[in-house]
Amino acid sequence: MRIGIGYDIHPFVAGRPLILGGVEIPFERGLDGHSDADVLTHAVIDALLGAAGEGDIGHHFGASDPQYRGVRSLRLLEESWRRVKARGFRVGNVDATVVAEAPPLAPHLKGMAANLARALEMEEARINIKPTTAKGLGPLGSGEGIACLTVVLLTEAGGDGA
Ligand code: MG
Repeated sequence: MRIGIGYDIHPFVAGRPLILGGVEIPFERGLDGHSDADVLTHAVIDALLGAAGEGDIGHHFGASDPQYRGVRSLRLLEESWRRVKARGFRVGNVDATVVAEAPPLAPHLKGMAANLARALEMEEARINIKPTTAKGLGPLGSGEGIACLTVVLLTEAGGDGA
């Protein structure tokens, strides 16, 4: 078994859609970034690559590379998974904490898990997404952006861990 951790944070900006786990969530602002700024999916990618010892998202998908401007981050997750899968791994489970003062994320968790499960070719039941807030503290608490922490467990394909 191998474990990886991922962390990401993006600031809110006006005039962009809010995408989390590939789900477009109705809100007056979206996250700023070179891609679709899907902070949850970025943290999952970093945890996945970290577990496999494959570096990080910036190493594979450069933040200044024009081919990734506005790209759907789920596509980057699919590409990352192809790379990790080719190494003989499968995903044991994914656990994520999304720190967002607003909007409420609970109605969208199932859709996010379904998208991530599809990209990672795994059961949705092995993906857990926990929304929380920063309790008003600091930039996250004043609603300036969203942060996400994720862990991914990988097992050897054919092993008894998955
Ligand atoms: Mg990011």
